[in-house]
Amino acid sequence: MEIRRWIDNSKIGCLERCPREFYLRYGLHLTREVPSSAIAFGKAMHEVIENALKEHKNVKDAIKYCSAVWEQVLLKYITEMGLEVDYEDYRLEPSTGILALTELFMNGAGKEMLSLTEEVLATEMELTFNVLGTFEFRGKADIVLRTMAGTNMLVDIKTTGWKMESWAEKATVDCQLHSYALTLDKMNLKVHSGAYLVVQTNRRRLSSGAWSNKPTLKSALFPIAVTEDYKERMLKRIERACLKILGRERLYLFEPVWSQCQRLSGVCQFHPLCERYWRYNGIDLKEIEPELLEVALSLGYRQEEWNPFEY
Ligand code: SF4
Repeated sequence: MEIRRWIDNSKIGCLERCPREFYLRYGLHLTREVPSSAIAFGKAMHEVIENALKEHKNVKDAIKYCSAVWEQVLLKYITEMGLEVDYEDYRLEPSTGILALTELFMNGAGKEMLSLTEEVLATEMELTFNVLGTFEFRGKADIVLRTMAGTNMLVDIKTTGWKMESWAEKATVDCQLHSYALTLDKMNLKVHSGAYLVVQTNRRRLSSGAWSNKPTLKSALFPIAVTEDYKERMLKRIERACLKILGRERLYLFEPVWSQCQRLSGVCQFHPLCERYWRYNGIDLKEIEPELLEVALSLGYRQEEWNPFEY
């Protein structure tokens, strides 16, 4: 096992959740995840919303732009991810995205964003800083903009199917935007506030089998006050995670956290593999690595290709 020398919020979250999951996911690079229409839809939404805000100042032009490009942007991600165009899936059915974007800019959070934006400074901005001289913290800021009030704001776009309310809770205990604001500080770009721009889209099937032409469309802007105190806490969190990785890697100890596991066992992709190795708690996993890999492949996991020198 050789762990890539960079860390991001997903890796930190995984390590805090369950070190065994971290070992399987980022040490052995195992996965059973498959590309999904939700991911293609989310990526296309990100791209179209970011460009609409960057290039258009008013609602009418933003909506016109979204309607003109949505289908081709969605198709680009469907193709890139090796999915099929499937009109039975509401996310891949082009009118869903167009209706969602029209609602977003006509009545929703997109309209609010346009009204507070003076200029979009960057979209999809690569963020990075060095941690403890050993690791690189990495992230990507969806949008950095200057507001009409002359302050800088960091915006993260989230697309969701059902759980709109959970983003309100996340916004009160935010790790992602604060760690990105911290990184931007280190890159000499100060941001004063943050927000999650959440777009919720789902669609009902009618008894005839067709999709309802009234999808559920909601959007909201959850503001986040970026504080120095919380950024400091994020720096400690990132450093703590790097030290934990170095320590665990040295001893090759990545044990499960039982209380977390009980909570996650229904959703953790590694459960079928992991339950065979629960008895191997507290031992050097190097001894069983070849066997573990063989069992993983027989259970349908695949080992992702990676290069330790590539980001
Ligand atoms: S199944 Fe449980 S112990 Fe195994 S990786 Fe998942 S959460 Fe961790």
